[in-house]
Amino acid sequence: MLFVVHRHHATTRHYDLRLEVDGVLASWAVPKVPSLDPQVKRLAMRVDDHDLDHADVEGTEHGSKIIWDRGGYDADAPAAALAAGHLRFVLHGEKLAGGFVLQHTRMGGHDRNWLLLKVDGEHADPGRDLALEEASVVSGLTNADLEAGSES
Ligand code: MN
Repeated sequence: MLFVVHRHHATTRHYDLRLEVDGVLASWAVPKVPSLDPQVKRLAMRVDDHDLDHADVEGTEHGSKIIWDRGGYDADAPAAALAAGHLRFVLHGEKLAGGFVLQHTRMGGHDRNWLLLKVDGEHADPGRDLALEEASVVSGLTNADLEAGSES
């Protein structure tokens, strides 16, 4: 199964985490950069599913959007796990790797709110600041590169 994280600069800058589940990309908007530190919890707001071909999208159609990370992921029965509000999954990306959890939360009073956490163990890396790693894993371009290009 496929995962992709878009770094998306629209009215706000955020990261869109997308997991292939039952033929679509289940999606969450993550306002802060995903972390490899198991002590860090990131708010992840569930948004509309996207078509699978959106995993290839990079461009300036709706703000600037790059493929910040992409790869395979493993999970047992992810649709059922998401319906139950708790998904454990293992990412095989270039920036994000190893075990993660998406946990549905009532925090904030919104049904769309989940928490994204890194599981301790292999690939946990509290000292690595992924905010500094801005480039697409596909094109090598940053959001700023795309924005500069779209003005000319
Ligand atoms: Mn977005």
